[in-house]
Amino acid sequence: MTPTSQSYDLAVVGGGVCGLAHALAAARRGKRVVVVDRDAQPNGASIRNFGFVTVTGQQAGDCWRRAKRSLDVWIEIAGAAKIPIVQRGLLMIARRPEARAVLEAFLETEMSAECRFVEPRELKDYGSGLQSDEFVGALYSPHEVRVESREAIPQFAAWLGERFGVTFLCETAVRAASPPKLETSRGPVEAEAIIVCPGDDFMTLHADRLAQYGLTRCKLHMMRVRPERFEARLPAIMSDLGMIRYLGYAELPASQALRVRLEAEQRDHIDAGVHLIAVRSADGTLVVGDSHHYAATPDPFAPTRIDDLILDEYAHVFAGSRPQVVERWTGTYASAPDRLMLVDRPCERLRIVLITSGTGASTSFAIAEEVIAELYG
Ligand SMILES: Cc1cc2nc3c(=O)[nH]c(=O)nc-3n(C[C@H](O)[C@H](O)[C@H](O)COP(=O)(O)OP(=O)(O)OC[C@H]3O[C@@H](n4cnc5c(N)ncnc54)[C@H](O)[C@@H]3O)c2cc1C
Repeated sequence: MTPTSQSYDLAVVGGGVCGLAHALAAARRGKRVVVVDRDAQPNGASIRNFGFVTVTGQQAGDCWRRAKRSLDVWIEIAGAAKIPIVQRGLLMIARRPEARAVLEAFLETEMSAECRFVEPRELKDYGSGLQSDEFVGALYSPHEVRVESREAIPQFAAWLGERFGVTFLCETAVRAASPPKLETSRGPVEAEAIIVCPGDDFMTLHADRLAQYGLTRCKLHMMRVRPERFEARLPAIMSDLGMIRYLGYAELPASQALRVRLEAEQRDHIDAGVHLIAVRSADGTLVVGDSHHYAATPDPFAPTRIDDLILDEYAHVFAGSRPQVVERWTGTYASAPDRLMLVDRPCERLRIVLITSGTGASTSFAIAEEVIAELYG
C-alpha cells in the first residue's frame, strides 16, 4: 500500500511487537492508526526471539508488573486473532545447591504467587526428556506462554488491520518524524501524533535525542534443534545460568553464591553471556538459545564456538544425544546501561519508545497502554 492523502490520528513507526502494541492500544481507543515499516514483512527482534512471554524472573517492580499485564493481553489477542499458544509454563531447573537456594529465596517473594518448588523425585513427572537425576530441584511457574513469533507477529498485524482498520505501509522508510508529518521514502504521511518504535535503530530518527541514553546493541545466537526425544508435556526450560541473568533472581542476595560458583565452573559461558532457554514448537523442534555480545554495530558473524556453549548447557539439562541443529540465526536488540526500556518525549505529540533489554515480547503491551494513556489522557 502507498501513502494516501488520508490523515491519521496516530502514526506508529516500526511494525515490531512494540509498534504493534501501540497500534493496538490506540485502536482500542478508536484512533485511526497507520503503522509504517521499511521492511516488506516483520524482520527484526520481534520475529527472531523465543516468543517466550516471561513473567517469572523479570525484574521486581515495573518490569514484573508490566509482564503480568502484557501476558493478559497476549492471551486476549491470541484468542481473538487465532494465534496458537504453543506452550505454557516454565521449569527453572537447579543443577547446583546454590541454584536451589536462589529458587527457595525467590519463593519467598511476592513474585512467586502460584509458582511451586518441584523436588527432584517429582521431576520424573515431566517425562524422560530431562537429565532429572542430575538436578537438585526446580521451580515451576504456570504464568509463561509461548507463541511462534515468526507467525504470530504477522498474524497479529493482519488482525489489527481486519479488526480495527489499522493501515500498514510496508517497504516505506521513515526519514523524519515530527507531528503532524512523517517524511517517508514514498512521500509524506500526515498524523496528529507519532510514536517511534524503531527497535535497535537509534540512528535514523531523533538520533540527537537518543544519544543521551548511551545506547548500544546486543547480538544473540539462536538455534532450532530436533531433540532425540520429544516430550510434549515439557514447559519452557531454563537452568542455573539464567538465574544470574534474569534480574528477578539475579537481584536476590542468594544469587551471589551461585554466581561465584558459575564463574569458577562456567567461565566461558558467562563471558559469552550464554544461558539456556529451550522452548517447544508445534512440529517437535525446540528453539534454543542464547548468548549476548554488545557493540554499537555487532559483527554479522556467528561463531560455532558460541553455539557449542549453548549446546553444552543443553546437554547438561536434556537427556539423549546431541540434537540435530536444523536452523541457526542471530538477532539484535537495543541495550542501555541503566534501564530496561525508555520513553522519550521530544514534544507534546511525539514519543520514542525503545525496549532496551531482552524483554520486549514480555512487556510491550503494558508499556504501550501506559504511553497511549499518557498521550491521550
Ligand atoms: C534473539 C532474541 C531473543 C529474544 N528473546 C526474548 C524473550 O524470550 N522474551 C522477551 O520478552 N523478549 C525477547 N527478546 C527481546 C524482544 O524480541 C525485543 O525486545 C522486541 O522484539 C523489540 O521489539 P521492537 O518492536 O522494539 O523492535 P523490532 O522487532 O526490531 O521492530 C522494529 C521495527 O522498526 C522498523 N524501523 C526502524 N526504523 C525505521 C524507520 N526509520 N522507518 C521505517 N521502519 C523502521 C524496523 O524495520 C523494524 O521492523 C529477544 C530478542 C532477540 C533478538
